[in-house]
Amino acid sequence: MNKNTSAKPFETLDPQDWEKSRALMHQMVDDAFAYISKVREREIWKDMPPETLDSFTTPVPQKPNDAKAVYEDFVQHVLPYNMGNLHPRFWAWYMGNGTVSGIMGDFWASVMNPNLGGGNHAAHKVEEQVINWMKEIMGFPATASGILVSGGSMANFTGLAIARNAKCGYDIRKEGLRPEDSGKMRAYASSEIHSCNQKALELLGLGSDGLQKIPVHSDYTINLDALVAQIKKDRENGLRPFCIIGTPGTVNTGAIDDLNRLADICDAENLWFHVDGAIGAIAVLSPKVKPKLAGIERANSVALDLHKWLHMPFESGCVLVKNQKAHKDTFSLIPEYLAKNTRGIASGDNWFSEYGLQLSRRFRALKIWMSLKEHGTERFGRMITRNVEQARYLGSLVDSQENLELVAPIGLDIVCFRYNPGGMALETLNAINKEIKLQLEERAIALPGYTTLNKSYCLRVAIANHRSTDEDFEVLVTHVLELGQELQHSY
Ligand SMILES: *Cc1c(COP(=O)(O)O)cnc(C)c1O
Repeated sequence: MNKNTSAKPFETLDPQDWEKSRALMHQMVDDAFAYISKVREREIWKDMPPETLDSFTTPVPQKPNDAKAVYEDFVQHVLPYNMGNLHPRFWAWYMGNGTVSGIMGDFWASVMNPNLGGGNHAAHKVEEQVINWMKEIMGFPATASGILVSGGSMANFTGLAIARNAKCGYDIRKEGLRPEDSGKMRAYASSEIHSCNQKALELLGLGSDGLQKIPVHSDYTINLDALVAQIKKDRENGLRPFCIIGTPGTVNTGAIDDLNRLADICDAENLWFHVDGAIGAIAVLSPKVKPKLAGIERANSVALDLHKWLHMPFESGCVLVKNQKAHKDTFSLIPEYLAKNTRGIASGDNWFSEYGLQLSRRFRALKIWMSLKEHGTERFGRMITRNVEQARYLGSLVDSQENLELVAPIGLDIVCFRYNPGGMALETLNAINKEIKLQLEERAIALPGYTTLNKSYCLRVAIANHRSTDEDFEVLVTHVLELGQELQHSY
């Protein structure tokens, strides 16, 4: 063969100049640490200017570009317009702040880039260990199974799929839903249930009618008498109850359903007990909250969301299942190209592809493994306890102001309140409070969320934030009062 020494270097996707690439990556690390350590000093949120919006409409690049120029583009157009959820005064929707150990874990997960579908390699052991730690935390037996998923939505979907298959009484994977069950299977939850559970039931072929929403008490917890009555009525009408979904920490107000009583009802009625613990499950790490979650260990399946109150970088969800066989029976399917070996890289009997919908999966476990090793469960528990106390502190600030009022009892760590000077119509109050919320954003003061409870629009402060101090809540209250006073004359 003729060797042409002047030929171009062999082309791959690796850097052409490793030293230059390494220097750029070092700079990114420095920039990232400056970014996170100064998060409090930066604006919490700002709108993207036209030139940045334009930068996202350019056609697909066809020729290589210098990596440094690409990074500069990112620094100019992406980084400054982040969501804001790292900030100490971000309390919108419900999400965590991330951790530095989580970043390190995600970084190495991408460097190693293993596939967690199956196989005999260390990443697999790390995920197994993280699942075992979650079982330990939740009081689940060692024989339980589990899997890391993208978040709470997938964790609930996974648990409800297992519930449906375990309770329908025939091989639903083969037959599909039998005609006599079509439109008949029923899951029960409070009217405060998160929407992802309804989506899951729709995708599982049970329809949105498959979710019976049960009324709540004035503290937004499920009304158990109404639940029992509805199950009885449904059975009399020839429907097939199969599952109760309990929520410890509802998304609107943080209400905690009575999990022990729900477990009792499931026992008596032979129903699957699923817990949507996206907000509340991990709060068992707080000795202050743990007693309120009693009964969670009795669940057949529980969904956890570790990118919420455990502050893992997105995406980090987890589902635990008591009955390992029911879990595997729902998802295992092994064609020849996925057959296992008794030795070598394709050995090992616990493959995650048999426990979930995904085959290829990223190394999600590493950031959780590193973070739990570095901080320990007790420190995470202290962060949760502090947020719960801060919710009470914010409640006391609201109570102490004549022009502010709580709109719902404070659940776990969620405070719903509004500006209300008295003597105003509901529509006017709603309009003022909406405007207060928007101006808090636009003036980059704070980012509470919002919701509507009993027709009253309110600020909804969901405190899963390891950076918030008590003063941050004082800043919020001061500005809400000021804005309210400013605005009330123009309505
Ligand atoms: C956030 C949330 C979910 C959905 O979780 P994602 O991680 O956003 O998919 C489900 N249930 C409850 C109670 C939640 O708060």
